[in-house]
Amino acid sequence: MSTKTSDKNTAKVENFEFQAEAKQVLQLMIHSLYSNKEIFMRELISNSSDALDKLRFAALSDDSLYAGDGDLHIEVELNKEAGTITIRDNGIGMDRDEVISNIGTIARSGTRKFLEALSGDDKKDANLIGQFGVGFYSSFIVADKVTLTTRKAGDDKSAGTRWESAGDGDYSLENLELDKHGTELVLHLKDGEEEFLNDWQLRNIITRYSDHIGFPIRMPEEVKVDPENEESETKTEWSDINKASALWTLPKSEISAEEYKKFYNHISHDFGEPLTWMHNRVEGNQSYTSLLYIPTEAPMNMMMNREDREGLKLYIKRVFIMDAAEQLLPHYLRFVRGVIDSDDLPLNVSREILQDSPLARKIQAGLVKRVLDTLEKMAKNEPEQYQKFWDNFGQVLKEGMVEDMPNQQRIAKLLRFASTRSDADTQNVSLDDYISDKADDQDDIWFISADNPAAARHSPHLEVFSKDKVEVLLMSDRIDEWMMGYFRQYGEINLKSVAKGDLSKKEDDDKAEDSAVDELLFTRIAEVLGDKVSAVKASKRLTESASCLILDENEMALHMQRLMEQAGQAMPHSAPALEINPEHAIFKKMEKEQDVERFADYSQLLFEQAILAEGGQLEDPAGFVHRINKLLV
Ligand code: ADP
Repeated sequence: MSTKTSDKNTAKVENFEFQAEAKQVLQLMIHSLYSNKEIFMRELISNSSDALDKLRFAALSDDSLYAGDGDLHIEVELNKEAGTITIRDNGIGMDRDEVISNIGTIARSGTRKFLEALSGDDKKDANLIGQFGVGFYSSFIVADKVTLTTRKAGDDKSAGTRWESAGDGDYSLENLELDKHGTELVLHLKDGEEEFLNDWQLRNIITRYSDHIGFPIRMPEEVKVDPENEESETKTEWSDINKASALWTLPKSEISAEEYKKFYNHISHDFGEPLTWMHNRVEGNQSYTSLLYIPTEAPMNMMMNREDREGLKLYIKRVFIMDAAEQLLPHYLRFVRGVIDSDDLPLNVSREILQDSPLARKIQAGLVKRVLDTLEKMAKNEPEQYQKFWDNFGQVLKEGMVEDMPNQQRIAKLLRFASTRSDADTQNVSLDDYISDKADDQDDIWFISADNPAAARHSPHLEVFSKDKVEVLLMSDRIDEWMMGYFRQYGEINLKSVAKGDLSKKEDDDKAEDSAVDELLFTRIAEVLGDKVSAVKASKRLTESASCLILDENEMALHMQRLMEQAGQAMPHSAPALEINPEHAIFKKMEKEQDVERFADYSQLLFEQAILAEGGQLEDPAGFVHRINKLLV
């Protein structure tokens, strides 16, 4: 940022340049939001509402901050002659440094991501604005000059700041005296934007986007001094144009679906529709109201920000306190957005206190129950809606299988998997579906976990299951192998990996104890492979492939072991067992093979094939090619 003092007008006005990136954001935003321009009003009113919330919170410990003006509200005013719209609040305001860092620096950390995320689709891009905190700059969609005048509550009169910019690369700052704290924004409208100078039109926009704002939004109205008298002079009166009551405090019967949705847009910065919402009042020795939403689509940063979460606003007796998603929602429900309003938490609650508070834990348990109840109902009554939920948030919900052991069985009921029953990779089979479709004499639930959907579906481990028409759940999300390590039983039924341990199910079946197999041959193969394998044995799983690798029940799948190793984790060396299909032509050939070297090559190839088939990488690919070629020619 460069600073130069303007030579005119003393040293009071200073000019600053935006960072290069900021200019770019401005241009892009103005361009991409042009067809949606009236959203600037929503963004600016939302900023004022936040500023009022912040003042109310700060005044809890020091009510002199109100400076005798506890009537928190927002004013919107038009001046047709000057071509301006003014938005004014008596909220927390900003000091000079805050103006520079909040308003002068568009290029905060989110900016680059914002630029990358722009899709060219106006509707989608409009949603991004709120998520990346560039809301204030939407004023430049309609204005060619914006003047912001502000004073922080609690500072003296002389601490006012005026910021002004034409949105074209630089801005000026000036110190000035201001009688009142709070922020006033004057938008000098561009030529052609006169439609916003229409009183009725502006009211319309405000009610459309901001009716749910919890503070009065006022506009001036000309009213007769004497309403009885036709000839009476007029005076200006400020009247409220919104309901100005916190939505969640109203009874459900008084709230329309439209209002719920608008409120969701406001608190989530997601301007799409929510998938569903839950609005409840809990009475008792701990009373609170919760209004929770499940978004339809995953918000931009949900998956990335596992640690730095937000989206659940904590109010205490209608006063906004802080975002308490981290304290009140478990990680695996981090897609939930909403508001909690507690009657019983102390107003001076801090994050630390909340973290250890039994009441907070109680609220959290209540919220978890509510969300799981809602998802269960949706899964049962609106399977299509539930599928949408699953496609967006299933991977996150799965974390709950490990994070929230006491609720594991409830969450398990909500899981959906791809399966060998269908050709599509859609995850839409529940464990209950699986159980109701399985044969009565099938004891277990079978699954396979692999690197990707194709590796799971084409794994040699599935051969005997497909021959016997036994359904196998196909898992290939990163989290699956980890989750299944903690999930061994659904109700009374065991979950078993087709790639691990003995197939006890098949023990007594057709191929068992096939006496014709020459055990000596296995010993010879084992000798060739050395410590690469823990054992070599005849397979009961393979019908077509020649070989596959098998792990112990408690071992981590090979693809996961590889991932961990790549991530720098030292893994204990675990050698899988090599299972060989004794019916396979290669094995038949080996039975007759006299040449020691060729026998060793066959043995290596059986091992290498098995690695490739489960999506693994060979230690010595050149050696593999060499061996293949030797046998081909
Ligand atoms: P966001 O509101 O998403 O953080 P904005 O660009 O709209 O992004 O605003 C940037 C910051 O400027 C806000 O976080 C807030 O700190 C400050 N700000 C904006 N408007 C006001 C206001 N009316 N009163 C006080 N501070 C404000």
